[in-house]
Amino acid sequence: METVTLDNATPPFFVGVDVGGTSIKIGIVDDNGRTIGYSSFPTEDQAGVSIAVERMKQTIDALVTSSTISYESVAAIGLGTPGTMDIPRGMILEPPNLPGWRNFPIRDELKNACQKPVIYANDAGAAAFGEFWIGSGRKHDSIVMLTLGTGVGGGIIIDGNSIDGENSHGSECGHVTIDSSPDARVCSCGIPGHLEAYASATAIVKRCEESLFAGETSSLANILAKGEKISGLTIAKAAESGDQLALNLVIDTADYLARGMAIFMHTIDPSAVIIGGAMNFGGANHPLGKTFLERVRTSVNKIVLPICAQNTLIEFASLSGDAGYIGAAGMAREYHYKNDVKPASLS
Ligand SMILES: [Zn+2]
Repeated sequence: METVTLDNATPPFFVGVDVGGTSIKIGIVDDNGRTIGYSSFPTEDQAGVSIAVERMKQTIDALVTSSTISYESVAAIGLGTPGTMDIPRGMILEPPNLPGWRNFPIRDELKNACQKPVIYANDAGAAAFGEFWIGSGRKHDSIVMLTLGTGVGGGIIIDGNSIDGENSHGSECGHVTIDSSPDARVCSCGIPGHLEAYASATAIVKRCEESLFAGETSSLANILAKGEKISGLTIAKAAESGDQLALNLVIDTADYLARGMAIFMHTIDPSAVIIGGAMNFGGANHPLGKTFLERVRTSVNKIVLPICAQNTLIEFASLSGDAGYIGAAGMAREYHYKNDVKPASLS
């Protein structure tokens, strides 16, 4: 994260809250998206969502104190949570990775606790907004972000607006169909052929294990033989050390991702597509990351209309795990400067 001392910070300030399955990240950022205070704590979803909201309030107060800003200089709060959710009503519904949280008016509870406007967003939409505001998408008016992690997440920002859809299920980019064959892989949602079933970290591990069980030679077979688990990271390390199977898995992932990307390039025609998430093969400054990115670009060029391929930048995200809270804060800022029109997602 780009941090800044208070002397060099530009008020007003915005709080971003990024709720994840394992931790809740909270940051205070200035008007230019630079972080002046940051903290995180375990989500502990089984303790219940009310306790979590209380801890959010305590953490925000502690950050305001330690950053030596006045509470009045915080203009608004952005809150991103994983779906399922009802964004206009500010409700968290049934997020699969927060089993202890169900049907709760989280936006209004946080607003009541903090006495500040609270903008509610999907966590992936918030992360995309972070990249759009100050990350890899900052020079662009419209971006699509695809995040490769346990699943494949997505965020679409057009002219500063996150595409949430009619049912708060817009930008579900991992669930587009890239394989309609009868033996297509089944997605975590139960439907066959979705991008997530091919390009997520879970999918690359599954493809790897299938190849090893089928008898392909690879240094990764030793890991299985020792009873250890294969992960996206172990595959990346094997690929770096020249393991052909591992490298093929990375290349195939790029090709699958390109198929999904092509769908969004043809529907949205964005000026940039950003690849985020934990599985980035080292990113743009790493040889394997470069190989992956180049393969995505080459593969995209073969399957999209030339005009889209020529004019759309494909790049890695640059804010890593900070994108969610920075983007949530950025959405709060967007509200602050446009508050003559009250958005539906504002309490
Ligand atoms: Zn799916």
